Amino acid sequence: MARNIAIFDTTLRDGEQAPGYSMNLEQKVRFAKQLELLKVDVIEAGFAIASPGDFESVKAISSVIEHSTVASLSRALTKDIDRAWQAVKDAKKPRIHTFIATSRLHLQYKLKMSEIDAFNQAVSMVKYARNLAPEVEFSAEDATRSDRDYLCKVVEAVIKSGATIVNIPDTVGYTTPEEFGSLISYIMNNVPNIDKAKVAVHCHNDLGLAVANTLAGLAAGASQAECTMLGIGERAGNASIEELVMAIRTRNEIYDFSYNLDTTQLYNTARLLSNITTVPIAPNKAIVGANAFAHESGIHQHGMLANSLTYEIMTPSSIGLKKNTMVLGKHSGQHAFNHRMKELGYTLDANMSTKLFNDFKNIADKKKEITDRDLIALMESGTQLGPQIYELDNFVVNSGNLMTATACVTLRRNNKKMQAVEMATGPVYACFKAVERIIKQSYVLEDYQLRAVTEHRDALGEVLVKISNVHGVFRGRGVSTDVIEASLLSLISAVNRMIDVSESQTDDKENISLAGRKAKEWISLSEEELLRDMKVSGTVQEEVTMGESHGISK
Ligand SMILES: [Zn+2]
Repeated sequence: MARNIAIFDTTLRDGEQAPGYSMNLEQKVRFAKQLELLKVDVIEAGFAIASPGDFESVKAISSVIEHSTVASLSRALTKDIDRAWQAVKDAKKPRIHTFIATSRLHLQYKLKMSEIDAFNQAVSMVKYARNLAPEVEFSAEDATRSDRDYLCKVVEAVIKSGATIVNIPDTVGYTTPEEFGSLISYIMNNVPNIDKAKVAVHCHNDLGLAVANTLAGLAAGASQAECTMLGIGERAGNASIEELVMAIRTRNEIYDFSYNLDTTQLYNTARLLSNITTVPIAPNKAIVGANAFAHESGIHQHGMLANSLTYEIMTPSSIGLKKNTMVLGKHSGQHAFNHRMKELGYTLDANMSTKLFNDFKNIADKKKEITDRDLIALMESGTQLGPQIYELDNFVVNSGNLMTATACVTLRRNNKKMQAVEMATGPVYACFKAVERIIKQSYVLEDYQLRAVTEHRDALGEVLVKISNVHGVFRGRGVSTDVIEASLLSLISAVNRMIDVSESQTDDKENISLAGRKAKEWISLSEEELLRDMKVSGTVQEEVTMGESHGISK
């Protein structure tokens, strides 16, 4: 019988830890609900002690998730474990996930601990956690560079102390499939009580081997795979859920595993993550990239028409990707609009439905046929969960090859209108200068990308911008039939995120969350970076004190 593999999603912890992927509480809760629709077995919702914001997110997710287990990460310290438990205890199925390094390199240089001390700490903290939680997962950080026999001793001892899941992470993405498969086999054969716990694997993608290593670990006996949507995570990221599960599904004769995940939710989940983080999906991304199911060349098309199996190893519908059909026009009513949105996997509340329907009508006036991809783009830009501080009221641009471009832009903030006129070498640049003048804050434009949503001549234009200032990097997305308008909408959404963070510094209440954010960043910084950062900001330091600010890149 096929062995069941549990899918442990850490997009909201390991993924969110990666630079440029941070999410607010509302976004995390929304993504967690989608993970439940995807039927992942475990949602690692965050690292509760890292910041007040992390704690609140884990707690909020614990209160809304019905079926999946909700876990919080914690170092092997009582105060971390207490905080993790406080955050997950109201979940229907709570889990504490605690970790300590087992490699000599980490113990000697990072924790300055002996192997014996680390062993004792692991045992006592697993016991402590198990007194609180029904499920305790223990991770041996940097397991793939640890001494095998020492690792086996730690695994045996933590299982004896109550760990129900033992995770073997390739923290630095160093191992290879053969080596990792042999390590998992070694553990399965040399830990006498290994049948009392589930073995998990957690692989990083520094050498592009995360999914291959995970598959090798599962083949050797592991039964929980830790991964993230789109493979986001520290550095080069983690094993990607969509690649792992579709490899198991497509090559089931090799990987004789069953899983509970609903693969038809993969496409929607990937789009939602890209929408929330405004980081686009690479066109050639396996499984969910725009080109993954495009068979462009003439030879391929001929083969596909004769028999789709010639070039297609899996069907678009297996990941929930629907045909791009032309469905709606300007005479379509709100009912038809809502109905199609529902078919595309979006449930809209009354406010959102009215707002999006108005956006849809505006576009339908300019563009005859609205396709599913247009609707998805509309949905994604219309429901950006970022703050709504400034809104576009109107704009006029003049541009041509015999003149300097000018832009007159009017924005609204709290119903107050503000206008600015600027000249520049091009119309987009002139608009951006006008926005900068209105908001009275400068920033660096790091990236600007314009693309058509569909192939047709009247396609919607989608613009993604990335801006930065001293507070960080902020992204925005905008969609319109007019590329200048799409550019402005995209810039305004990025600027709103930037202002939300900048202004929170002067607001006492908000300061707490900024303190948290700062503390959280510190955790993943090296000591040198940490000192540099302290010199620059010289500010808040909550909960996570410097001596302990190590080693969260499990
Ligand atoms: Zn990791």
